Amino acid sequence: MKIACLDFEGVLVPEIWVGLAERTGIDALRVTTREIPDYDELMGQRLRLMREHRLGLSDIQAAADELQPLPGAIEFLGWLRTEFQVAIVSDTFYELASPLIRKLDFPMLLCHRLEVDNRQQIVGYKLRQADPKRQAVRAFKAMNYKVVATGDSYNDVPMLSEADHGWFFCPPENVCRDYPEIPVVRGYAELKAAFVGAADPFR
Ligand SMILES: [Mg+2]
Repeated sequence: MKIACLDFEGVLVPEIWVGLAERTGIDALRVTTREIPDYDELMGQRLRLMREHRLGLSDIQAAADELQPLPGAIEFLGWLRTEFQVAIVSDTFYELASPLIRKLDFPMLLCHRLEVDNRQQIVGYKLRQADPKRQAVRAFKAMNYKVVATGDSYNDVPMLSEADHGWFFCPPENVCRDYPEIPVVRGYAELKAAFVGAADPFR
């Protein structure tokens, strides 16, 4: 039995916060897990910028709603679901991801929750659990699944290291350089070949 764990932003869909930066013209919101490895530091910075610019939940939901899955993502995911159980293991939030998850026909999504006050301002967030990507893979392994995984950034390293086989998907230079031991695929055709090749002995 085998399960594929996929990061979400950067693998199947564009970066939602970069979408917000484009919508609002606030360049500082372009920073992602590709630049800041510490997720709490990154989210602290994002929420501070939202407060400073008086942006609320509806602004970032609107930015997410404008995005489309990456070219080829729908077809890739459609194929993957015929061959593997699939879980999207993400550091995004259900409140933001829902429009994009709908466009992908509702695959399983494991992510976090935003804390929103009664004026619809984002006041904080609640991680599903500590070290969430690694723990998701551990839990699937405890259920006797073999796990293949892919992601594009620093926050994926625990998931890729814990999986039976893990690949970076189109990562930036700095991520490749800092983790040269993790193999890289570029594009869905390469990812498909990597998953199929690794999973064959699992049958
Ligand atoms: Mg990502």
